[in-house]
Amino acid sequence: MAEPLFKRLALIGIGLIGSSVARIAMERKDIAAEIVVNARTQKTLDRVIELGIAHRVEIDPAKAAQGADCVMLCAPVGAFADIAAAIAPYLAPGCVLTDVGSTKQSVIRDVGPFVPAGVHFVPAHPVAGTEYSGPDSGFTTLFQGRWTLVTPLPDGDETAVERLEELWRRCGAMVERMEPAHHDRVLAIVSHLPHLIAFTICGTADALEDESRQEVLQFAASGFRDFTRIAASDPTMWRDIFLNNREALLEMLARFMEDAQAMSRAVRWGDASYIEGRIELGRKIRRSLIELKQA
Ligand code: NAP
Repeated sequence: MAEPLFKRLALIGIGLIGSSVARIAMERKDIAAEIVVNARTQKTLDRVIELGIAHRVEIDPAKAAQGADCVMLCAPVGAFADIAAAIAPYLAPGCVLTDVGSTKQSVIRDVGPFVPAGVHFVPAHPVAGTEYSGPDSGFTTLFQGRWTLVTPLPDGDETAVERLEELWRRCGAMVERMEPAHHDRVLAIVSHLPHLIAFTICGTADALEDESRQEVLQFAASGFRDFTRIAASDPTMWRDIFLNNREALLEMLARFMEDAQAMSRAVRWGDASYIEGRIELGRKIRRSLIELKQA
């Protein structure tokens, strides 16, 4: 078996993503020799102990981070600035400080100023997830065959970046480097906008008068059902993503609304070929995803 990449991995936040990393690291043993976990509440930490997915738990993030050679922020991105401020004085020299946040420019803005000299900050984002949250929701195959996007800082330490990339490969992920602003634009269209649409369409259905609303639930066709799955995601996490990828999300939403207007015009004027063309495009995109094994 390969040597563990890190002596001690501290996970700050242990929901779907953190607990999946913890489960893999506990099982594989070549990621870290020791796993220390922090969460906001003792209830979550008690559950982590019951699940046996950490060697040690700490309610104080500073104590969890102290002495770790890899610290991974796995809380909602809106909490990162406070967490960074709390742990920064306790980070060991040479430590790799990383995160799994779904937005990257905001994380660099919020965490960057607190990173002490000698600590290597390597932002990253595993593009894998489900609508479930909390320490029970994680599983060891979550990252299998999925991408982890690493957004290194221009003056970042190359060895630290490579160690983190190896951590993600050992978690089963494929790894690619990306510029943070580019990451945020890509994720705005592939993830953040679809969630915004799902939350909105559920709101629209819910606002229908009583009788129709009941029928929406009773006869929910697969289209609406698929939206409700996405819309079941964690409110805090998604609030933070929307507010921290504001510009890119608003830009993609504006483009989407223009395209929706064009579709609306085609429906109004009976432009069958326009409608058919857009549906064909959708099918083509779905086929490409299946071929890339990302469906
Ligand atoms: P989650 O299941 O909702 O769990 C969040 C964890 O963070 C919990 O352990 C929670 O502790 C802790 N936490 C919440 N607020 C905190 C605070 N202020 N200080 C310290 N800890 C706090 O979250 P998740 O789905 O794993 O998402 C975690 C991160 O991964 C987010 O930044 C998200 O953007 C990113 N991400 C998510 C997905 C996805 O599909 N879910 C995919 C890729 C990346 P308590 O349980 O004690 O409250």
